[in-house]
Amino acid sequence: MHMEGSLSARDKVGVQDFVLLDSHTSEAAFMDNLRKRFQENLIYTYIGTMLVSVNPYKELELYTQRQMELYQGVNYIELPPHIYAVAANAYRVMCTERNNHFILISGESGSGKTETSKKILQFLAITCPITKKLQTFRDRLLLSNPVLEAFGNAKTIHNDNSSRFGKYMDVQFDYKGAPCGGHILSYLIEKSRVVHQNPGERNFHIFYQLLEGGEDHLINWLGLDRNPQKYSYLIQGECAKVSSICDKTNWKLVRRAFTILEFTEADIEHLFGIVASVLHLGNIKYEEDTHGHAIIKNGSQLQWISKLLGVPVSLLQEALTNKKIEARSEEVLSPLNLELAYYARDALAKAIYGRSFNWLVNKINSSLSNKESPQQPVIGLLDIYGFEILETNSFEQFCINYCNEKLQQLFISMTLKAEQEEYKIEGIEWEPVQYFDNKIICDLIEEKYKGIIAIMNEECLGPGEATDLSFLAKLEEKVGDHPHLLTRKLADPIARKTIDWLDFRLIHYAGEVTYCAVGFLEKNNDLLYRNSKEVILKSKNYILRDCFHSSELDNRRRPETVTTQFKNTLSSLIEIILLKEPTYIRCIKPNNNKQPGKFEDMLIRHQVKYLGLMEHLRVRRAGFAYRRKYEIFLERYKALCPQTWPNWAGPAREGVEKLVKYLGYQPNEYKLGRTKLFIRFPRTLFATVDSFEIR
Ligand code: ADP
Ligand code: MG
Repeated sequence: MHMEGSLSARDKVGVQDFVLLDSHTSEAAFMDNLRKRFQENLIYTYIGTMLVSVNPYKELELYTQRQMELYQGVNYIELPPHIYAVAANAYRVMCTERNNHFILISGESGSGKTETSKKILQFLAITCPITKKLQTFRDRLLLSNPVLEAFGNAKTIHNDNSSRFGKYMDVQFDYKGAPCGGHILSYLIEKSRVVHQNPGERNFHIFYQLLEGGEDHLINWLGLDRNPQKYSYLIQGECAKVSSICDKTNWKLVRRAFTILEFTEADIEHLFGIVASVLHLGNIKYEEDTHGHAIIKNGSQLQWISKLLGVPVSLLQEALTNKKIEARSEEVLSPLNLELAYYARDALAKAIYGRSFNWLVNKINSSLSNKESPQQPVIGLLDIYGFEILETNSFEQFCINYCNEKLQQLFISMTLKAEQEEYKIEGIEWEPVQYFDNKIICDLIEEKYKGIIAIMNEECLGPGEATDLSFLAKLEEKVGDHPHLLTRKLADPIARKTIDWLDFRLIHYAGEVTYCAVGFLEKNNDLLYRNSKEVILKSKNYILRDCFHSSELDNRRRPETVTTQFKNTLSSLIEIILLKEPTYIRCIKPNNNKQPGKFEDMLIRHQVKYLGLMEHLRVRRAGFAYRRKYEIFLERYKALCPQTWPNWAGPAREGVEKLVKYLGYQPNEYKLGRTKLFIRFPRTLFATVDSFEIR
């Protein structure tokens, strides 16, 4: 390993911490440094304690066993920047202080978040001490990934392995520092993908893996054909086969993972019974009878679904062609027209897939749970779907981008805002660094009564006949003059008739996105007909039965809308995070073509801007990388100075002053605040012990 100290080396490979850039903190200098390093395959660079990563789109020799050993327990300043250094540091502090940490990995879709999170998990699992007993646990931890990815990831335009759900994973460590428990929280899986994919995109990986790799007896038992072209739910994006993905190999991995995670054969049969039922559902075609009612064309799919889900054919058929309404405590069946029948079919497919995914997460959690000592400290890893702009952006992109706004807000408030406020509180002289606070956009989306979500819910739950158009009109009426929202003027009656006009535009922190409002209300309601629910409740498939509760049939209970649920889970996520010591990794996508070595200036500059990296650098450069309460600092380092050892009798602040002077810090290198000591660039000594702590 080389140190990047000498001038010539530095010219070539740049500096490993942006804080060390000579020139004033200009964007050009920043970009230069990032480019130089990227071209030398140095994809990681620090900004103080934060790590910036640029996706190389090629395999680098950075993640070998040897590299892992190198970074284990080594002071991060002594080696080139690496995600392992970040992980090792969080781990070290967690071990010494027994406190909770989390690593927030953010960046747009395809920037490398999931890879980073997997590599960190591997690093922790492999480098931490391990006993025989914990070995199985470690394997489970590592193999939970391929299962969740199979069911929750898919090929999109931006990424061949795009996460279509959010994932927060806690890894627990025992008193010896060995991983001993884990827990996963999943967020809003993109169910609509089960029934619809945009051009160039696929359904979830598991469908293709099953068809390609599934054992003959399984395929036969499920009544499937190996050819994905036979399934209408698999081919809407017209790319069932992807060259970068080997579905067969991945299938084997998933199978092995199931064994390690203690899935029984019965679990697997029931789970794939549901997966196959989704495919059969997608092939159900309807015809119209003379009354304009939908009837099912060919009965063979029904037979298979009935077998796999363990429900009578008649009940299934009824649910797929009729709607059950309760009128004066009497149940009445009303036949569906073609459009509604397809709606009922798709809704059932989405529901059973979505709920099975949640079952899967629970099942994995029970296999990872640590019943013996649940109070152990954790390192949490957050890997969530990244900001996304597609050709046509729908409800799903709205939710994903809202989630990214929230994380950006969290980042801003925990770094730029909190840090600058602390200087003020501590009475440290400080020239404020300006930054864009995206709270205004978060409010626009989630504010009570007048945010977009509230307006959408009002339309969904209100008494009147609501349509996507009336939703748009309300948006315009209530928030039409908001600086981050653009609606078309709907006043023109001719314009109102044009379907093209059903869009609104949000100016997100990461760019402008035009959303097509078609389907927003429907997806927000996520309505499943009563008789579909009954089918599921009567199913002999225990996974399905586990996922539904009979209380869902209670008409008096109004289910929460999708956005309300999402908003609530996001705020509890943020609460979880706020209690932990944070580390940030910001991922950057170098080009839109998944091409190795291609550094697209414009694209990267845009990300550097919206990720707030320049502001972060300015605060870091002008600020103090290290801060500690006087009492804590004194207690920890009093042994280094004869005046404070063994005990300092006076006020802690004065003791600390003696101590830092004795250590040779010059007056411009530190500041004494009201309650804390601040050091601009801490020496190796503190860095080793507390390197990444800034509180
Ligand atoms: P995100 O989760 O941010 O959407 P991923 O982590 O799935 O993005 O990365 C997208 C793709 O980029 C991966 O499938 C992989 O091909 C490539 N990639 C990402 N990170 C790395 C890395 N560190 N080294 C090599 N390739 C990478
Ligand atoms: Mg991902």
